[in-house]
Amino acid sequence: MEEKKYYCMRYYVTYRCNSRCQYCNVWQDSRFRERRELELEEARSLIAQCYQIGVRYIDFTGGEPTLNRNLAEMIGYAKSLGIKTEVTTNGIPHSTGNLQEIAACADKFNLSLDTLNPDKYCRIRGVDCLDKVLETMEELAPVRPPKIMMVISRENVSELEQMICFARRHHAEIYLNPVFSYFDTACGRECGTVIPQIISKIFEPYTVVMLHFMEFLKNTGAGNRPPCSANSRTLTFAPDGGLILPCYHAAKETVPWSGNLANMLETDVFKRYAYADFQRECSGTCGVIPYFGISFNYRLDAYFLLQSYSEKLNHLKRDYLNRLPGLEIDGAALQHHLSELLSIIRSLEGGREHEFTGLYWAEETAKGYSTDVYRELLTKEQYRQEQEAEDCWGLKLVPHYEFDKIVNRFYPKAYAVYQTGAYREEISGIFQDAMEFQLRLWKAYISKHMKVAVVCSYEEERNWLERYVDRLLRWEQGNLRYASC
Ligand code: SF4
Repeated sequence: MEEKKYYCMRYYVTYRCNSRCQYCNVWQDSRFRERRELELEEARSLIAQCYQIGVRYIDFTGGEPTLNRNLAEMIGYAKSLGIKTEVTTNGIPHSTGNLQEIAACADKFNLSLDTLNPDKYCRIRGVDCLDKVLETMEELAPVRPPKIMMVISRENVSELEQMICFARRHHAEIYLNPVFSYFDTACGRECGTVIPQIISKIFEPYTVVMLHFMEFLKNTGAGNRPPCSANSRTLTFAPDGGLILPCYHAAKETVPWSGNLANMLETDVFKRYAYADFQRECSGTCGVIPYFGISFNYRLDAYFLLQSYSEKLNHLKRDYLNRLPGLEIDGAALQHHLSELLSIIRSLEGGREHEFTGLYWAEETAKGYSTDVYRELLTKEQYRQEQEAEDCWGLKLVPHYEFDKIVNRFYPKAYAVYQTGAYREEISGIFQDAMEFQLRLWKAYISKHMKVAVVCSYEEERNWLERYVDRLLRWEQGNLRYASC
């Protein structure tokens, strides 16, 4: 078996559910009924064997995953091995009653909630339980606020503002995701209407907006998409430990749980679905984001740049901006910069047409390395360093690397000083401009260094960025003097 090939496990720990959502097939499809669930020891063995082949991330899903009474133990075991864990619950309390425990131990803990209107909730979810879910939220929030997962359609888009306020009141992040069909050839009118409204909320505190996923959904059915990671980096397991092929959503065949994962991966049926030919055939019109998301990390292209921008913005908000009340953000100006950034990123030449195994295409020439993404030739040393990166997050010739250098040097100190009450006005000003700083840095960096057809006014951005960094340096020097007296 190939070492460290797989990265992610999607583990359907139960097909039972206490909800009856319109859009879900688990409770409606006879294929998902009456599956036995692995005993705890078997589940531990499955997790341990996945760890041995490289899995470092487990999404415990279902059905309603918390209905599996062993869930907390499974999470604890995975974490003891160093695997990151994620759970999404509908928040409806039930007799197993271990939501608090699971919230406390999962690395990522999410609550699905699309509306605060009881009738709408009942229509979407098929059960009259909104009041109970809100009670769950009240109980969890003071201990560990879950991330709210809101799927947005025409039915609930008018509630965006209200839902964001609700999340903010509970100090909970809210992930805004458009409704989409898994196998539609286009994202459809609904998705097209909803996406601009979601993007209009990207700079608000506590919101989480993933621009790369929205771009991906818009491009469903078009070429130039990342590959699906099913059976190449992601493995999917049924509650009884069976390996679901090619993925949960297509679910054509299963390799039954035998207790020996290595043997299961050696079966002809598994190999057939793991081949690249199958992936190409299957992925053209698919919109199942969890299977594509991982692929965004392995190719330096427009999707990755959108991803790096979105992720760093979320961190900025989570680590600093959400915690600083009263920042006055000029949303219109930021949206203007964002639309420029989107045009620049979309015009990137490099990408997925080439068949190559690295993070970007490169060719050695007499003068250096020519690539499909960088304007300049890379020196041998630059190229060697870039080759050391396991995925695009480890690259150095990218905007997020430049951004991290500055942010990691100044922001933690600034935030710590802010909490003492010193330099309040100055530090608020620094953080007030943090999102603009990020946007301008991405625009300038990509325009200058990458092969894009659309560019920004580099001089203008550079002048602004230099002034901002000067401010940070002045503050740092002042703060050092203050700290030493
Ligand atoms: S392309 Fe879609 S349907 Fe095909 S295996 Fe991947 S996630 Fe499943």
